[in-house]
Amino acid sequence: MRDSAENIRYIIKEKIKPKRQIKDFSFEEMKEYFESKGEANYRVNQLFDEIYSNRALSFFEMTTLPKGLRQTLSEEFSLHSLKIDSKRISQDGSIKYLFELNDSNLIEAVYMPWINEEGEMERSTLCISSMAGCPAGCAFCATGMLGFKRNLTPSEIIEQIMLVEADLNLKINNVVIMGMGEPLLNYANVVKSLQLMTGEKSKIIGRRKITLSTAGIATKIKLLANIDSPPKLAISLHATTNATRQKIIPISKSFDISSLMDAIEFYYRQTKMPITYEYIVFDGFNDTPEDAERLRKIALRVPSRVNFIPYNDISFTNPQGISKELKPATSEKIAEFANALRSAGVAVIVRDTYGRDIEAACGQLALSKDNKVGE
Ligand code: SAH
Ligand code: SF4
Repeated sequence: MRDSAENIRYIIKEKIKPKRQIKDFSFEEMKEYFESKGEANYRVNQLFDEIYSNRALSFFEMTTLPKGLRQTLSEEFSLHSLKIDSKRISQDGSIKYLFELNDSNLIEAVYMPWINEEGEMERSTLCISSMAGCPAGCAFCATGMLGFKRNLTPSEIIEQIMLVEADLNLKINNVVIMGMGEPLLNYANVVKSLQLMTGEKSKIIGRRKITLSTAGIATKIKLLANIDSPPKLAISLHATTNATRQKIIPISKSFDISSLMDAIEFYYRQTKMPITYEYIVFDGFNDTPEDAERLRKIALRVPSRVNFIPYNDISFTNPQGISKELKPATSEKIAEFANALRSAGVAVIVRDTYGRDIEAACGQLALSKDNKVGE
């Protein structure tokens, strides 16, 4: 019999013992755990079916598992690592989700429907975050202005998709890892989340439906090329010389354009998936005929296409220095730049932006207690 002080200590210890996130576990890892508990292997199949196919909302709902096991799992694991804090719906149909993590950090994801001319929904894309904040500090990016809070865990990454699918009662067809954070600076967790998303037992989406966007961590691009289910790769290029790139993307000081191109070539050779280059055309900064010529050379090195992304205003972050000087090029100038590349054989897409009215577009996924959205 414990005395009451001991009892209180026991209760406190139990209360503060952090539960492990069940969606951080791969099928193999969960198999090991079940073996250590003397549970049969087929139970792991049932558990994964409950989580990823049936999308059970609690361990007690997992009626294919015996009651005792459900109890043990609920004592040792947590099934939810995020909750929807709020959402904002844009006039164009996109929805910005604000999620609260268990430690109260906030992250965002943006849902974008693609409607065809008949007004039917053709497909849907979800842009998800890989970090709370970002340490890379790119001069044009609102998330960068926030600084780094922390890396997201695999379960926090995949649950963004699962929660939006449940909330909207639909299937997401494309996932882009282009929300808050630099995914290749959270390499291990992002790779594990990719393995979970595409794994046979935990499948959420096919690997060819996932695009990972990076500011260009060349060493990690090479590693990513060799994982079992590499995603499509998008590179935030935004400049064609090392000097201009370093002005706006500080981490490019460690990975110059030549080392980045070597990594990209390697990625293409390993995966055979065309590369996307993202390029914001800044007025008078990266829009000269010489830039077009250098961009042509870069783009033609392996099969690729160039996406011109409209620059989304980040003046709400009170930018200083170079950030203050960056201005979007006019649409005429962008069209001229795009045409110069097209006539040189480069595939170019001039992107329209989604969710401008709800600050959900690229680079605007920033939050702080002060500008928390959706309230
Ligand atoms: N860290 C990764 C992914 C997140 S940023 C990366 O940098 O690629 C996703 C995309 O939004 C990148 O292409 C980034 O360059 C772009 N972006 C950032 N700020 C932007 C802004 N203000 N306007 C338009 N695009 C922006
Ligand atoms: Fe980070 Fe990407 Fe923003 Fe740069 S553009 S600060 S890498 S999120």
